[in-house]
Amino acid sequence: MLLGYRYGLCNRGKLNCLIVKVQLISEKTESADAVIIGAGIAGISAAYYLAVKNGMRNVVMIDERAPLTLTSDKSMECYRNWWPGPNDHMVCFMNRSIDLMEELARETDNLIHLNRRGYLFVTGDKDRIDKIRDTAAEISCLGAGPLRIHEDGSKTSDYAPSPAWGFENQDSGADLLLDKQIIAKHYPYISHEVAAALHVRRGGWFSAQQMGMYMLEQVLDHGVRILKSKVTGIALKSGRVDSVHHQSTDQTYNVGTDVLVIAAGPFVNKITSMINVKLPVLNELHTKMAFQDYLSVVARDAPFMIWDDPVQLSWLPDERAELESDESTRWLLEEFPGGMHFRPDGGVDSPILLMQLSYGLDVVEPVWPPQFDPFVTDILLRGMIPMIPGLSSYIGRMRRPFVDGGYYCKTSDNRPLIGPLPVQGAFVIGAFAGYGQMASQAAGELLAAHVVGHKLPTYAEAFFVDRYEDSNYQETVDQMQDKFGQL
Ligand SMILES: Cc1cc2nc3c(=O)[nH]c(=O)nc-3n(C[C@H](O)[C@H](O)[C@H](O)COP(=O)(O)OP(=O)(O)OC[C@H]3O[C@@H](n4cnc5c(N)ncnc54)[C@H](O)[C@@H]3O)c2cc1C
Repeated sequence: MLLGYRYGLCNRGKLNCLIVKVQLISEKTESADAVIIGAGIAGISAAYYLAVKNGMRNVVMIDERAPLTLTSDKSMECYRNWWPGPNDHMVCFMNRSIDLMEELARETDNLIHLNRRGYLFVTGDKDRIDKIRDTAAEISCLGAGPLRIHEDGSKTSDYAPSPAWGFENQDSGADLLLDKQIIAKHYPYISHEVAAALHVRRGGWFSAQQMGMYMLEQVLDHGVRILKSKVTGIALKSGRVDSVHHQSTDQTYNVGTDVLVIAAGPFVNKITSMINVKLPVLNELHTKMAFQDYLSVVARDAPFMIWDDPVQLSWLPDERAELESDESTRWLLEEFPGGMHFRPDGGVDSPILLMQLSYGLDVVEPVWPPQFDPFVTDILLRGMIPMIPGLSSYIGRMRRPFVDGGYYCKTSDNRPLIGPLPVQGAFVIGAFAGYGQMASQAAGELLAAHVVGHKLPTYAEAFFVDRYEDSNYQETVDQMQDKFGQL
């Protein structure tokens, strides 16, 4: 007999802890209508839309770890519908995903703490304003909502920040603030050097962990089984999926199935290589920090804030000299890319700010646990100072900053892979990069539509694995280089 694991949730309704019951599962090859490899947000969402929303019976998930513990609990938990082209596919996809998240929030009395504070992209460079305005107008036209421009010196601006809590009846689109006085009035902690701010309205954050746990509870209630085991092989028969081998406590077991969903996060290519498929993905390590703002420099009702300009970290003269003298630290004096971001985390009494910056993004082979850059706390704190000068009070006075992170598994156009693989019966859902939580609802729905044969939405074509075979598309991607909205 195989000692399998079956997950159950304790304290139903609060969804705060997961208990593991050991159960006996037949040693013989069992069979399933669908097997999902991976119980991160991608796998759980696939299971939710297959079993709960489409009534599929006998779904088995296999994960070598506890659900949601590899990448899916490392997220900043933010969402937005503000995505660049080409075409409107990403905007439509995210609008759909946010619609579904809002439905889920309504049906659970907002168990997932969805807010709609928006994203505030800030620049201190007035020469970038025209470009920001043009890009914003383009994204607005893709379906992200109207662009409202609040000109410099405007006396009649009706701009107001978003409410801190709740998500109903809010503006969509974006407000481009060109008047420093409006910015200073509503966001007094932002640098007086600010030149413009773009407030994207259909965005904010939520408890992605609660959302994952809620879906997990639902899938378990609908008969989905989770096996804690490592997938080691996939057998094909006449060119199509036949069974999945997995290994637990030194023994190998099989699950026979016609439908295989691969949701293995950063290890997706390890799994697809078992069926001789190589997907066009790479992995980058991204780090975040939970930082204690115990001096209340930032207001607790702040939106998600992004400094859009490259930054030079501020070092004291003696620190600068020390870094300069050592080849291994000289890079800390160089310019860092734009995109430093943070948001308040927790309730009104929490001092926590979550901070993130994507820098030094080499393509890496994922290893677990990852090693984080020992300078990351200083880089993140000092990198935020051009946007929030008050944070300089914390240099040398940070209290127990906590660092974690995970891999962005991504494609060259920063769009997911969702759909069938070239082996009959095999599907993929992944390459979720830095947006997997916000995308998970529409992604799970789309994956299920592929599996059960429902009509596909128009954006489905943008996520097929073979899209790069179209040379025109590949050329467009090459021209856009890295302008795909990664944060
Ligand atoms: C620092 C950071 C910040 C982020 N911020 C945001 C954000 O603000 N908003 C947002 O929407 N997204 C964000 N993301 C992205 C989001 O967290 C990811 O896109 C998402 O969690 C990926 O989910 P996944 O299910 O594809 O992968 P994972 O969560 O990694 O799950 C994959 C699962 O597959 C299992 N697996 C792999 N191989 C095997 C095997 N051989 N056998 C059995 N099981 C296997 C693993 O154990 C794992 O549990 C962020 C990510 C990071 C790292």
